[in-house]
Amino acid sequence: MKFATKAIHAGQEPDPSTGAVMTPIYQTSTYWQKSPGDHQGYEYSRGTNPTRKALENCLASLENAKFALAFSSGMSATEAVIKLMKPGDEVITGNDLYGGSFRMFTRIFAHYGIVFHFVDLSTPQNVNKYINSNTKLIWLETPTNPTMQIVDIMGVSAIAKANNIMLAVDNTFASPYLQNPINLGADIVMHSVTKYLGGHSDVVMGALMLNDEVLYKQLWFIYNACGATPGPMDSFLVLRGIKTLHLRMKAHCENGREVARYLKTHPAIDKVYWPGFSDHPNHSIAKKQMRDFGGMISFTLKDADLQKTFNVASKFKVFTLAESLGGVESLVNHPVTMTHASIPKESREAVGVVDNLLRLSVGVEDIEDLLNDLDQALK
Ligand SMILES: *Cc1c(COP(=O)(O)O)cnc(C)c1O
Repeated sequence: MKFATKAIHAGQEPDPSTGAVMTPIYQTSTYWQKSPGDHQGYEYSRGTNPTRKALENCLASLENAKFALAFSSGMSATEAVIKLMKPGDEVITGNDLYGGSFRMFTRIFAHYGIVFHFVDLSTPQNVNKYINSNTKLIWLETPTNPTMQIVDIMGVSAIAKANNIMLAVDNTFASPYLQNPINLGADIVMHSVTKYLGGHSDVVMGALMLNDEVLYKQLWFIYNACGATPGPMDSFLVLRGIKTLHLRMKAHCENGREVARYLKTHPAIDKVYWPGFSDHPNHSIAKKQMRDFGGMISFTLKDADLQKTFNVASKFKVFTLAESLGGVESLVNHPVTMTHASIPKESREAVGVVDNLLRLSVGVEDIEDLLNDLDQALK
């Protein structure tokens, strides 16, 4: 099946007991057993729930994976992968990472004896000097947040495979519509489902997708033992959201392209970060590994201090000033004080996360209204 058909149908069949076309919200914590152990595959909803199972099958299908696990947030999905590590194990990751991942790696798991190296992954060979016999995992994000660097997934995966290191890709910014890391050599794909997959800014959820059955069983053990699993109502909302993923992504990409071009020539703007520009440093890799360039764009204001940047951020009327991304509505975010506040000043400034940087999640509204809003906010 192709993408749109999978988005609408994968994992879902008419309900066997009623014929309901949409997967019901199985709002139950536990399941009847005829005699102890004699049940229909469901015992307790921390481990399995039919609404969540339908969603997981759909999620697996979208990433061309055999297995998926849904978590109660993107962070808990990430956490489950890091819990595969033991004290002394080393992880190589990007230096332009989602703020929450950076915070969890440095302020939770570093205390458990897991060592993290934050490396510029825009050139895959940069990982080589950090690899040793303790290296167990490479964790990467592409496009990165918020400066839209592109990491060559196939390039990193070749190095990971040669050294017997697991590769996990946070595919949140691209969504499975734009990029499928497993096909490019990743072992695990992670999503903050909260963003494009959910698509309507009404659910917090995460997911892991993968092919290896042994690894799936290890991750399922962590998922069930630690219990950060989402409820049936949220699972239903995401199943519903995914049915329009392909339509939304096309519109995000179209509007994103227009907004990026508009910003590029605007006199009040200095840099524009968007992988679709031919002068983006890894544009050719973006073209190779992504289907289109998405609706995430960051830019810096010319000659603006923090106060002036705040003034611009507060002037938007159609774009909403808020954290998060990937919903149908357009958002504007000030990374330094909002999404990336937990990253030390020096680390963030080294990768361009400066006071006068704003990040847009371009939604699917009418493009004229978005451009007019930018026009008045940037005056
Ligand atoms: C939002 C986000 C996360 C965290 O996901 P939550 O659902 O908020 O826990 C991880 N990675 C990226 C790239 C994100 O944008």
